[in-house]
Amino acid sequence: TSPRPLLEVQKLSVVYNGAVVALTHVDLDVRPREIVALLGANGAGKTTVLRSVSNLLQAVRGQARADRARFDGADFLHLGPGDLVRRGLVPVLEGRRVFGPLTVEENLISGAIGAAKSRAQTARNLERVYTLFPKLVERRRSPAGLTSGGEQQMLAIGRALMAEPRLLTLDEPSMGLAPLVIQDIFRTLKRLNQDEGLAILVAEQNSAVALAYAHRAVVLENGVSAHEEDATTLRARDGMKDFYLGRT
Ligand code: ATP
Repeated sequence: TSPRPLLEVQKLSVVYNGAVVALTHVDLDVRPREIVALLGANGAGKTTVLRSVSNLLQAVRGQARADRARFDGADFLHLGPGDLVRRGLVPVLEGRRVFGPLTVEENLISGAIGAAKSRAQTARNLERVYTLFPKLVERRRSPAGLTSGGEQQMLAIGRALMAEPRLLTLDEPSMGLAPLVIQDIFRTLKRLNQDEGLAILVAEQNSAVALAYAHRAVVLENGVSAHEEDATTLRARDGMKDFYLGRT
């Protein structure tokens, strides 16, 4: 018997600008302590799913509907993005989006302010982030915009961790990064999952790396959640590359 999902999505559909249909039918669950990979080709709708669950569609003129849209029992389509962060659903957005002129440490602290954490919680979480990402310690006084792509991705994840997520969502964290840096980042995510039970929903075009760390995968094809399978099975599948890109 599996526990009640932390995130429950049934029949999610999204339209942009009242006209562009991005998602037609997405079903997706994330259970406590689970890492779920959201796979699919360019344009399949991964970013749109992550925007929907954090209710970030309004700014990009997107409109979502769903038969079921729950995070920890609450309807995520009726909660503001900030409310969702304070409830523990924290997104790491595509392209990292750190504040370039602010220092690494100021960026981290901004993640705590957004989630209304106390000074004591902030200090504790800062130590924890520096323990997880020692590279950020050396860079704490540097403007974030002058750090490397890998450091910016670590910073974006660290900033999200400052909000004490129960579910962390990530949009293509591997994008533009060297293989060793990607491994480093995914290993840290896995450690957070194993040690602290953090649930993770990670969208990736790099399915090989995502499947190496995820428990389960959901494959999107043209706005539809077309397949769902445990990661080991999907990894072992012959011609997997074609399969996840929806070409079989
Ligand atoms: P990528 O890897 O390129 O980010 P994706 O799987 O994340 O792809 P989405 O970005 O969610 O896919 O895009 C799904 C569909 O919605 C695409 O057809 C895309 O053109 C469209 N779309 C995405 N954002 C917008 C927007 N702000 N306005 C209009 N259409 C959009």
